[in-house]
Amino acid sequence: MTFKQLGLAEPILEALNEQGYENPTPIQAQAIPILLEGKDLLGVAQTGTGKTAAFGIPILHHLYTRQDKTKGKRQIKALIVTPTRELASQIDESLKAYGRHTGLRNTVIFGGVKQHKQVARLKQGVDILVATPGRLLDLLGQGHLTLKHLDFVVLDEADQMLDMGFIHDIKKIIAQLPQKRQSLFFSATMPKSIVELSRKILGQFEQVSI
Ligand code: AMP
Repeated sequence: MTFKQLGLAEPILEALNEQGYENPTPIQAQAIPILLEGKDLLGVAQTGTGKTAAFGIPILHHLYTRQDKTKGKRQIKALIVTPTRELASQIDESLKAYGRHTGLRNTVIFGGVKQHKQVARLKQGVDILVATPGRLLDLLGQGHLTLKHLDFVVLDEADQMLDMGFIHDIKKIIAQLPQKRQSLFFSATMPKSIVELSRKILGQFEQVSI
C-alpha cells in the first residue's frame, strides 16, 4: 500500500514525499479510505501511531479538492480539539507540513498565553483550527470565531480530555457545530464514558483499532 494508491491529491503526495513518508502506517492505511469516503470514524489509537496524518491527510484532501478559489473570506471548515497545548502545537505543525502545497491555512489556539496573537491570526482567516477546549470556548464566547461553516470535527485524545475534566466544555463545543458534518473521534482507551460520548458526537460510524 502506498499513499498514491489511496488516491490523494498531488500537492499532498508531494508533501508526504518531502516528509520522507514512504508508506502509510497501519492506522493510516485503515482510516484514510474510510475518511475519504466521508464516513464518521471511531479510532482507538495512541499517539506515536501516525494518528495525526490519519485524520489530517483526508481533511486536507477534502478541503483542497473542494476549495473554492474564487470567492470570499476563509472560514473555519475543520476543527481539531485536543487536551493540551503540546499536542495542539504538534498537530498544528504536522498539518502545516502535510498541507504546505495546498494553499490551505491552519492555526492553533490554547490557554495559558495572552490571546491577542491568536485572535489576530483568526482574523486573517484560517481553514483548519486546532484548539484546546477552554480557549476555544473563550474565543467563541467573545465572538472571535464561528464554527457555523464547519465540515469536519476531530476529537483527539478523548479519554485524556475526560480525565482532565473537559466533558462539559466538549458538550458545549459540540452543541455549536452544524448537524451536517463529518466527525472523527480518537481515544487510546474505550471506557463506558468514552463510548457514550462518542455516540453523542458520531453519526453512523466505522471503527478502527490498532
Ligand atoms: P503521531 O502518532 O501522529 O504523533 O505520529 C508519530 C510520528 O510518526 C510523527 O513523528 C510522524 O511524523 C511520524 N509519521 C506519521 N506517519 C508516518 C508515515 N506514514 N511514515 C513515516 N513516519 C510517519
